[in-house]
Amino acid sequence: MANQKVKVDIPTTFNLGGVVWTTRKDESIDEDVVGRCSHRESVIEYRSKINRSSDKKLSESSIKNTFNHELIHAILGTMAEWELHDNEKFVQSFANLLTEYELSKK
Ligand SMILES: [Zn+2]
Repeated sequence: MANQKVKVDIPTTFNLGGVVWTTRKDESIDEDVVGRCSHRESVIEYRSKINRSSDKKLSESSIKNTFNHELIHAILGTMAEWELHDNEKFVQSFANLLTEYELSKK
């Protein structure tokens, strides 16, 4: 059986609770994070390279996981579930399972 290349698609825009969110790839975000979620701007930013000074790309599944992580922050904030929103362990576990689901579904 041939290996299936993982191809993730990150949306450019989506709605949550009637609010239009946009996403953008930004290689210049802080070195210690790979993604960011701004409720004030309704924007999710993510990086596709390992760091600013590198041309090394993150794996597609890792970019998808980053996007899912930020999406879960966006959803929980929209639900005003701020305690869960700020629980990074919860958000990361949720993102890992969601990414596994998305990459394994047929
Ligand atoms: Zn987070």
